[in-house]
Amino acid sequence: MEKILECPSIGQYLSIIDNMYRLGWDERNGGNVSMLLSPEEVETYVPKETIREIPLPIVADEIVRGKTFAITRTGGYFRNTKGDPRKNIGVITISDDGKIAHLHWGFEDNGSFTSEVYAHLMCHATRLKVNPKNRVVMHTHPTNLLTLTHLVKLDEKELTLALWRTMTESIVVFPEGVGVLPWMLCGTNEIGVATAEKMKEYRVVVWSLHGVYGSGETIDEAFGLIETVEKAAQIMMGELGHKIVNDIDDEGLKAIADHFGLVPHPGYLK
Ligand SMILES: [Zn+2]
Repeated sequence: MEKILECPSIGQYLSIIDNMYRLGWDERNGGNVSMLLSPEEVETYVPKETIREIPLPIVADEIVRGKTFAITRTGGYFRNTKGDPRKNIGVITISDDGKIAHLHWGFEDNGSFTSEVYAHLMCHATRLKVNPKNRVVMHTHPTNLLTLTHLVKLDEKELTLALWRTMTESIVVFPEGVGVLPWMLCGTNEIGVATAEKMKEYRVVVWSLHGVYGSGETIDEAFGLIETVEKAAQIMMGELGHKIVNDIDDEGLKAIADHFGLVPHPGYLK
């Protein structure tokens, strides 16, 4: 087996992508995931030579220059990724001037990275400034969360509170709440900038009528965050059209946050 495929975090990355497809979140070529590799992983597993240079559509932020990422392919299908990683993912290093990606491995048959590379690199830069341990940025189309954006007011405080009130785990997993963007055209610089701006405050940003962006220190954490928001959204979907008799009130939410030593988004709870 090629060295890169022996890297444990690459193995987890491929398994999570496979899971995302099986959850029905990433139809056709939907979804894209990027993961920063540690210097030790680069040293041990990544081929040193550049097999191709791919121009970046933006000048990458200084904080991501010289860093090495695994990233999914444009037009690639998540359902094929684990079975054919050499074609469907690439391992790239951002050049020192931020203008080029050096491809070390993958993207076989002249492929390239996701068209959402703008949003990924901007979100990595933002999250690394907030949390130097952040490694993963993940975009996907979870069914219930996406459907919910057709049905509820697109208000960060209202949506966060509604998701928190569905189950105890919500406020524990996303005490800062969820960021929300209105519908915007994807694959553009504008949506990348807007998502990265929200990521200063939130690890998860809902793209209305499209999907979600999530981030985390590991692939498991980023996936678990989105999975928890999606579960809460699924519960909300089941409740729509029904009269809610019981949910977790502000006092309960404060008690959960206190118990776990968390600070809920300021101003959301009475
Ligand atoms: Zn998408």
